[in-house]
Amino acid sequence: MEIKINKSVLSLVEGDLTKQDAEAIVNAANKSLRGGGGVDGAIHRAGGPKILEECMKIGRCETGEAVITTGGNLKARYVVHTVGPVYRDGIHNEPKLLENAYKNSLKLASSKGIKSIAFPSISTGAYGYPLEEAAEIALGTAIKYLKEHNDIELIRFVLFGKKALEAFEKATFPFLSSGQST
Ligand code: ADP
Repeated sequence: MEIKINKSVLSLVEGDLTKQDAEAIVNAANKSLRGGGGVDGAIHRAGGPKILEECMKIGRCETGEAVITTGGNLKARYVVHTVGPVYRDGIHNEPKLLENAYKNSLKLASSKGIKSIAFPSISTGAYGYPLEEAAEIALGTAIKYLKEHNDIELIRFVLFGKKALEAFEKATFPFLSSGQST
């Protein structure tokens, strides 16, 4: 599914983030930047040791912030590492922190001149964020960014499994009147 926003495209696909040919892919990292399970582990496995080397030099990333490294052996030239919130009950600033993780990843990518970027569904695995709520925040933040900036040409959400894709597709409905879906 694709939505056109100004001159940019927001796309939703089911697939494996590590195989994407976008200029940057975003890692749902943890604060220590030392790799982990889920999409983080998959990125380090596929991208090789250079990514971890750069992560160790950077040292740490706070929740809602983002840092950038090489893409190592990945097709993507860069990996943006961001840390989403661990979901507790929804009243510990989780929505704002999740929004910041997307927003700061986009800002950092833009500052590097990156035109295409692929995201996983941040925080909805080990960090336990309810998928439907996370999808609304992810899409809302991406759409707002594309409406307000014209630097990034493509934002792609790469959803792992049908359930995640469906949740993201459903969350686009409120936004469709202001864009064109194909
Ligand atoms: P977090 O700790 O932020 O919750 P996880 O990696 O545990 O991060 O999960 C984030 C999301 O990434 C989950 O929805 C999970 O299904 C998904 N995921 C795991 N592996 C991949 C992959 N290779 N490509 C895309 N998404 C993935």
